[in-house]
This record gives sequence, C-alpha cells and structure tokens, in this order.
Amino acid sequence: MFENSARTELSELGEFALIDHLSKNVKTFNSNTIKGIGDDAAVIDNGQTYNLLSTDMMVEGAHFDLTYTPLKHLGYKAVVSNISDIAAMNGKATHIVVSLAMSNRFSLEAIEDLYVGILAACNLYKVDLIGGDTTSSSKGLIINIACYGEVAKEKVTYRSGCKEGDLLVVTGDLGSAYLGLHILEREKRIFLEKPDFKPDLEGNDYIIQRQLKPEARVDIVEILNGLNIVPSSMIDISDGLSSEIQHLAKQSNVGFTIYEDKLPIDPIAYQRAIDLGIDPTVAALNGGEDYELLFTVSQDHYEVLKKELDLSIIGHAVAEHEGLHLISKSNNKHKLTAQGWNNFS
Ligand code: ADP
Ligand code: MG
Repeated sequence: MFENSARTELSELGEFALIDHLSKNVKTFNSNTIKGIGDDAAVIDNGQTYNLLSTDMMVEGAHFDLTYTPLKHLGYKAVVSNISDIAAMNGKATHIVVSLAMSNRFSLEAIEDLYVGILAACNLYKVDLIGGDTTSSSKGLIINIACYGEVAKEKVTYRSGCKEGDLLVVTGDLGSAYLGLHILEREKRIFLEKPDFKPDLEGNDYIIQRQLKPEARVDIVEILNGLNIVPSSMIDISDGLSSEIQHLAKQSNVGFTIYEDKLPIDPIAYQRAIDLGIDPTVAALNGGEDYELLFTVSQDHYEVLKKELDLSIIGHAVAEHEGLHLISKSNNKHKLTAQGWNNFS
C-alpha cells in the first residue's frame, strides 16, 4: 500500500494533507456507512436515524500545559470538544468512551480531578460515560475521548452542501480562547523567571475561561431545530475561523466573502488584544479553540436569523473561482489564507 523507501517529513505535509493522504487508500465495506473520513463526525445509518461518531485526542505538551491548566478543566474541555463535533453535524451527543495514558508522575488525586471535570461535562450535557481504556505512558498524559450521538436523517449537516449566495453565520464570539492562552503563557513565562510571583489574571476572567473551560453550542442546534432551519453546511471552530472557512469552501465547492466589521469580538477580548499588541481581527480569524459553530443557510432565513442575538452573519458564499476574501473595515479586499494547525512543525 505505502511502499515508499524515501523519507518525507510530516512537517512538509501538515495535519490536513496528512489526513488526505492517508484516507486515499481507505475503502468502506458496510452499506450503512453514510459518511466516513472528512467531516466533524462519521455518519452511520441505524435504520430510523443516523448515528454520529467522532474522536479527539489531547496530548500533554502539544495540546495542554499542566502548569496553568487545572486537570478538572482539562477533563471538561476534552468532553466538550467532542460534543462540539457532534453538534457540528446538527446532532446530539449521547455517549462517550474515555481512554487515558499516564505516566507515574500522576497521582490518584490528580486523575480524580480529571474525572471531576469529565463528569461535570457529562452531567451538564446529559452524556453517558460508558467505557474507555486505561494504560501507562512513558511520559506525560494523553486523553482520548470518542463520542457517539444521533441526528434525524433529514437534519444531518455536512461540511459540504453550501450553495453560492448562502449566508455565512457564526455563533458567539471569536478569538477569546486564543487571547486567554496568550495571557496564561505570558504569566507562565514570568512565573518561570520569578517563582515567588503571583499571576496577574485580573480582568481576564472571560478570555481565560474561554480557553480553559469552553462550552459546546448545543443550544444553537436546538434553536435552529426550533426555527425549523437546517443549515446547508456546518463545522465547529476548533482550529480557527480562516481554517474552518477553508474546509467549508473546499468541501462545498464555493468561495466566501466575509466582512471584518461583522466579526464578533468580545469588547474585553478586543481591548486585551490591543494591550498584547495583537490585531483583534487576526485573533478572531486565526485563534483556535473557541468551539463556536460556523454554518451556512439559504438567504430565505435572513430575517429570522438576524433577530437571534448570539448569531452573527459574517459574509456569504460566492462562486468557487472567486476564492476566499475578507473585506476590511477600510473596504479593502484581502485574500483569506488558512493557517490551519500544523502540529508537526
Ligand atoms: P475536527 O477538527 O473536527 O476534530 P479533524 O481535523 O481532526 O476534525 O479531522 C478531519 C477528518 O479526518 C475527520 O473526519 C476525522 O475523523 C478524520 N481523521 C483524522 N485523523 C485521522 C486518521 N488518523 N485516520 C483517519 N481519519 C482521520
Ligand atoms: Mg470539528
């Protein structure tokens, strides 16, 4: 299958190209596999409805830093990121399995804390923890959660399906989680230089909470359901708006034009970005881990959606050949590039 003698560095590909490359040789054998690799969750036909299945792994050092991440929060976030992927299919998460690998650096009390967070999320989102796997690692903590869910067949929403002219809508606000991470990293650097120093997190509660304890937008799935609106495409924002727009564009064969002045940025986050010398628009476009939903709907729904307080219409789909653009506040047109999330560099 892969009979190459040459060596190619993973950093040359990046995460998305690697997944594309590996999935080329994947065949499916069961007729109930409706959607395999390539969306936020896989879709399996159970006769009455569709089941959804996704998985997400978090590795110490790569995805989290325990110097400033309480284990309780980590457990919570690991569950939420999975529930968010099921929500991105317009579905409801129902069950999870939790797999842990940990070194002997971790005590029983530490793993108990992790589980306090996992169970808090299960309790809030009414998801059942039904199994997992526990093993040792030579170094650090690895947590993998797989999530199972359900969606009515006529409501399933893929990354593909957006049509030219559709409105592009985002929930909540963007960039806060990234700015929260910046503050935590800054305080860590100061702490390492001066261990007797007390971290200064004053006034940053909201953005730090967005980084450490995000929520999945299951409320929006319910609101859309109540309004009888099925998005034409949807994805959750884990890697950053630019990157996710790129996925919707690629899989729906459309382009997008978005407007800088429509990007939802929390006022405190905006000010913190300026204080940190970061362009708030760049934080909103490229910052990851907000776990908001990004979706498209037909223009027919404009009047209804513009009344929803926690939704922002940030642009619209255009023809594929027109590509991806941001119209700046000064009315200049910029090409939108996806930063993606290159974990291997
Ligand atoms: P998300 O950010 O929504 O969690 P990912 O970018 O992690 O999605 O994954 C994109 C798609 O690629 C998903 O359908 C996922 O199941 C699939 N995928 C990721 N890694 C692998 C892998 N190693 N083998 C097969 N499929 C994978
Ligand atoms: Mg996703």
